[in-house]
Amino acid sequence: MNRDTMSFDIIGVGCGVATLSTVLQLLKRVKSEPAGSMQAPTVLIIDKGMSVGAHNLSGAVVDPGPLAELLTPEEFAGLPKFTTVKSESFQFLTPGGSMQVPWMPKSMRAEGYPIVSLSELTRYLAGLCEKAGAEICAGFAAVELLKENGRITGVRMGDKGLDKNGVQRAGFELGPDLIGSMVILGEGACGFLTEQLIAERGISGPNPETYALGIKELIETPECKGRAGTIMHTFGYPLDQMTYGGGFVYCVSDTMTAIGMITALDYRNPTLNPHDLFRLFKHHPKVQPFVAGGKVVEYGAKVLPEGGFHCVPGLAVDGAIIVGDGAGLCNSLRLKGVHLAVQSGLSAGNALCEGWKNNKDFSVAAMSKYPEQLKASAPWKTLQKIKNVRAGFSYGSIPGIMTIGMGVVSGGLLPPGRMPLEPDWETMKAKADVRPWVQPPKVADSEAGTQMDKLSDVFFSKTHHEENQPSHLKILDTAKCTTCIQKFGAPCTIFCPAQVYVLKDDKTSIHIDFSNCLHCKTCQIKDPLQNIKWTPPEGGGGPVYSKM
Ligand code: SF4
Repeated sequence: MNRDTMSFDIIGVGCGVATLSTVLQLLKRVKSEPAGSMQAPTVLIIDKGMSVGAHNLSGAVVDPGPLAELLTPEEFAGLPKFTTVKSESFQFLTPGGSMQVPWMPKSMRAEGYPIVSLSELTRYLAGLCEKAGAEICAGFAAVELLKENGRITGVRMGDKGLDKNGVQRAGFELGPDLIGSMVILGEGACGFLTEQLIAERGISGPNPETYALGIKELIETPECKGRAGTIMHTFGYPLDQMTYGGGFVYCVSDTMTAIGMITALDYRNPTLNPHDLFRLFKHHPKVQPFVAGGKVVEYGAKVLPEGGFHCVPGLAVDGAIIVGDGAGLCNSLRLKGVHLAVQSGLSAGNALCEGWKNNKDFSVAAMSKYPEQLKASAPWKTLQKIKNVRAGFSYGSIPGIMTIGMGVVSGGLLPPGRMPLEPDWETMKAKADVRPWVQPPKVADSEAGTQMDKLSDVFFSKTHHEENQPSHLKILDTAKCTTCIQKFGAPCTIFCPAQVYVLKDDKTSIHIDFSNCLHCKTCQIKDPLQNIKWTPPEGGGGPVYSKM
């Protein structure tokens, strides 16, 4: 069988906000040139999800600044949104109570910002890109970067139709090679090809990236008139002093609440279960009123890159650029990444247009305009001002809050230099050295619709994979599992938000239910022995988010 080859000028991998913003800006800039002076590049964007937006999940209260720059006033007015933020609060939670934070810096406030579904926003931007001339193909995973003399020349798409033993099934298809002058890597946090490229070219940031697992539900509730637009961010309970993160409650309408919990993956206790923490959060008396009597209608999970300024890798190599979450562009303090994804798209799109105009000059030197422009933008400068905040929190809540204070007072000059971060997988302690984490709450009948176990929740993510294919989750050395089970108590069976890993009866090995996988990548990031490798499954598999 021969592998097909298809050629495009630009290839986007991952149909998320960052890739779409890059392509839209590029095509708009080309179109704005004097009529007939420049031919538009051919653009193909591929995505591993079953449909556009199927793998896109976020809070999401969006800082609209960069979107307003990317879109025309008419396009901006047509943005799909649930509502806008009308009232907001920050709460410190204790096990049974709460205290409102009396003052928040302006940069942390969100009144008037739109509350959106990232899946819907993605579909909207994809529609604009198609209108501008780009082609978009969902259901196709990119599995390899193609190279020639060190230059990225395209991507290989995954084969379709291998059975669980790697043997060709009826209808087997070889994935084609997509050849292009430029590849935009917008795979999201911990992207498969992006991570390979960063490691291979030695372009990681000075600090290793640190992640958090975000778990989110959409809950339909009895009507509560006037609640739409109310948002609440929390810190404290159910996390301890040494675990960074918090919860959010966004009333997206009078009858629908988006609720989520973010748990930083540099946690130490191997018995910590992020899904249990989420359940405890929903059970808290300050949170309960927002979900009481409700029922879950959608569920999902993803990781966020939290490290910030000192973790951002090199953004351009010969033939490829990295945009959005895959480049670590997220402001964890503001719990916002969408505006940085759009901002990276604006800067990358401008650099691509200049390169295109200049006889397809997509060399590293030409593409260096992308990071240059990004680093002159307001969202980047905000990131710079909090450059050490995330590292401060790795020493606990009090040092973290002090780091914020120093940063705000000094305009980002303090603490000076770079505070180091440890890779998330290195922070886990042995089970014998910790106290078991608290269990999820006992479920009252009134909470039955909102207190799901993991598998019931997975049902609401509409996750599906062809069962008869090789597992996309690879345990690199099964002998190491025994060590991990003895020392850490099989943490993959605990942290995975989809119960993919199950301890076998022999208590020395792990069974993998890969078809439940939400593609969050937590297992690859947090496995303390770095023994799990996430690879792209057959295109079209995974969750199918519609309003997340
Ligand atoms: Fe996330 Fe890994 Fe579980 Fe899949 S198997 S849901 S990537 S932790």
